[in-house]
Amino acid sequence: MKGNFNYQLTESEIQPVMLLDLRRQYETIKDEIAAALKRVCDSGAFVLGPEVKLLEQNISAYTQVDYSIACASGSDAILLALMAAQIGPGDEVIVPSFTFFATASAVTRLGARPIFADIDPVSFNIDPKDIRRKITPRTKAIIPVHLFGQMVDMIEINEIAQSDGIIVIEDAAQAIGAELKGRRSGCWGDMGAFSFYPTKNLGGAGDGGLVTTRYEKFAKCLNLYHVHGMEPRYYHSVIGINSRLDSFQAAIINVKLKYLESWTNMRIQNARRYNDMFIDAGLDDKITLPKTLEDRRHVWNQYTIRVRDGLRDNMKAKLSERKIGTEIYYPLGLHEQECFKYLGYSPQSLAETYKASREVLALPIFPELTEAEQRLVIGAIREFIESRDARTVLPTATVPNKTREAA
Ligand SMILES: *Cc1c(COP(=O)(O)O)cnc(C)c1O
Repeated sequence: MKGNFNYQLTESEIQPVMLLDLRRQYETIKDEIAAALKRVCDSGAFVLGPEVKLLEQNISAYTQVDYSIACASGSDAILLALMAAQIGPGDEVIVPSFTFFATASAVTRLGARPIFADIDPVSFNIDPKDIRRKITPRTKAIIPVHLFGQMVDMIEINEIAQSDGIIVIEDAAQAIGAELKGRRSGCWGDMGAFSFYPTKNLGGAGDGGLVTTRYEKFAKCLNLYHVHGMEPRYYHSVIGINSRLDSFQAAIINVKLKYLESWTNMRIQNARRYNDMFIDAGLDDKITLPKTLEDRRHVWNQYTIRVRDGLRDNMKAKLSERKIGTEIYYPLGLHEQECFKYLGYSPQSLAETYKASREVLALPIFPELTEAEQRLVIGAIREFIESRDARTVLPTATVPNKTREAA
């Protein structure tokens, strides 16, 4: 297949390629969204209400669980799940260090201690071997994160957890529709946390989240905790939080859910096309392409390549000059973050996380991305690899020590 495409860029081909262009998707469902929003206005139910109930039913069916509880964000979904698991001071919760901040901050919010585990370098997901090493009598929960849209080996995680009576909370914020052995994310653990933040595969027009569970006892807790622990009205037996989904978000997400499968398949097609193009352009030995593991359906919330030898930041800058949007998820492992210094991890103590945070680069992968745009991305990467900049290696110390914007 080598040589089928011409990746040489001419000056006239310098066109912007956005990391994510939400407007293209919106254009295709504009009228349905408008009708859904009008329905909410006409109903006068703005918080929770019938649209939220419907969304909960829809996501339960989609993820093959019995219960779904919508809430205000993916971050709250993790927090609520930990609350339902009765996590508190003195408890330890094992989380990957290579993840979005919310996975660990929910743990500290409850007075418990996050224990950071390293990742598998191929999938970027938490390494079960490191989990085993880090279990203590205080370990109460594990939060496997299905990073970038590919599922953790939940069979092994559940095996580890069951023998010690540990609760498993899937962080499926980036992985709605992802599968392991034909079963979807969110139905494997005791609970699953989802996010409807606009950049996720199923995004609303603002913040939103949801917890899935197969267990009635957790569903009861979640239903109570997300409305101030109030039952009946103005009577509080437990101290909950205010984390309700608003009806506008639910109405929009209900519309978009109908298209999720086709959008996911477009992401999968884009990922395949990148792989083919990188190989075709002879770049697959210069950078490391992302891999889909066995028995998985990867839903490609991010298409993340690895750029070795300290070239990553140079490449990002070069692509930015070419007006190609990329992002670094994540420039620092959580164990290196200022706010978690008190936990006492040295940067290199999680070697694979340390390395990944200095090598990863996410390329545009959204469903509506065109083949022509992918060609521009590949062309700009090849241009960089062949340039003198690629031979001037930046020291890794240029990685900024500041927390970036959310995913
Ligand atoms: C986005 C995200 C969250 C948080 O979701 P919000 O809806 O933004 O609060 C948590 N974990 C991971 C892995 C995420 O990507």
